[in-house]
Amino acid sequence: MAPPTFVIVGASLAGAKAAEALRGHGFDGRILLIGDEPDRPYERPPLSKGYLQGKQDRDAIFVHPAQWYADQAVDLRRDTLVTALDRDRNTVTVSGGETIGYDKLLLTTGASPRPLPVPGADLEGVLYLRRVGDCERILQTFQSASRIIFVGGGWIGLEVAAAARDAGVAATVLEADDLPLLRVMGRRIAPIFADLHREHGVDLRLTARVAEIVGENGTVAGVRLANGTRIEADAVVVGIGAVPNTHLADASGLHVDNGITVDASLRTSDPDIHAAGDVANAFHPMLGKHIRVEHWANALHQPDTAARSMLGQTATYDRVPYFFTDQYDLGMEYAGYTEPGGYDDVVVRGDLTSRQFIAFWTAGDRVLAGMNVNIWDVNEAIQHLIRSGARVDRVRLADPDVPLEELAAG
Ligand code: NAP
Repeated sequence: MAPPTFVIVGASLAGAKAAEALRGHGFDGRILLIGDEPDRPYERPPLSKGYLQGKQDRDAIFVHPAQWYADQAVDLRRDTLVTALDRDRNTVTVSGGETIGYDKLLLTTGASPRPLPVPGADLEGVLYLRRVGDCERILQTFQSASRIIFVGGGWIGLEVAAAARDAGVAATVLEADDLPLLRVMGRRIAPIFADLHREHGVDLRLTARVAEIVGENGTVAGVRLANGTRIEADAVVVGIGAVPNTHLADASGLHVDNGITVDASLRTSDPDIHAAGDVANAFHPMLGKHIRVEHWANALHQPDTAARSMLGQTATYDRVPYFFTDQYDLGMEYAGYTEPGGYDDVVVRGDLTSRQFIAFWTAGDRVLAGMNVNIWDVNEAIQHLIRSGARVDRVRLADPDVPLEELAAG
């Protein structure tokens, strides 16, 4: 009997980690890892941080050395688009027309930048950041541009604006809301990021609506806002969110709702197909609901669960969501999950003004999320506290002399 074939669509961090996990758990069948990028799988955080800041080499971004794929008998197909998924025949079709059968399929197709729907958005000099090539175009722009406008004061907008300022380029950030990162941070903490950027010379414009990207000779010359204001710039970087890449899932009739719906074992509505990473809207046992997490840690860790589940083992993904950022001299880690309206208080341990603190988002007397800013080696304890579900006293939560481990013990 022919050995089983497992196909992974999306040669991303999640895809590469899934191949690694399958081999690590003893799978000795065929593994095909298919992606439409020219590079082998790489990590994305450096694209808006270390590599973009010139602190990391290109070689450092890759998930595995080039030789690893041959050593592990992982058939990596680059520059290859999967154009169709036939769930009745258990096949995928790739660009060029080849049809490949699978026993199990993993979709790690990720997300794509949300396009800015205004006139002028197709001008030369309008840039997005998702792939390493995008990062390298922005790096070149740091050399040539004197001012860059960032549309969106989210993670991309703020991290790339910080890298631009470090490179000596003038930066204007246009955020639609009345604070950057408002949805994630809330009104108490978001102003810290606004102040940080203003102190570093960013021209931060809030409640800003882009009406048009203005061009001269086919190239960006600036932006016109809905209130008529015109801002001159040599380039525009758009970071207004990402959209999950669900085309294959949609076309093949898999259940899709804000990403590909998967259970806690990362199985889709088809038992032969799993999904992981940015594209997966996964049931999270600790939270008791589905969440889709567009962050590195999720793409790093979910594949192990997906691989074990593909191999017929019992596996559930229930890690506390985690992400981090570095902007200028502010480094932070965030763990947990909450939404606007999902918490009733923010408790601060430490000093907001010196940007050295831990913030806890709480509901009743339980901690839902915690963020350590310029304080290190505490995030595991924060995750443990969240996971414990312990009832906490707010005064003790705010007191740096009370160990977090003590609070988790209840
Ligand atoms: P994002 O973090 O969701 O931020 C998008 C921001 O743009 C939001 O503040 C949004 O405001 C605002 N916005 C939306 N439409 C706008 C418009 N027309 N004009 C001006 N502002 C507008 O998305 P992103 O920065 O594009 O990043 C893409 C993905 O990469 C995200 O999933 C992000 O989590 C991920 N990423 C993560 C990290 C990290 O973990 N450190 C770093 C880089 C990227 P509203 O919220 O009000 O819509």
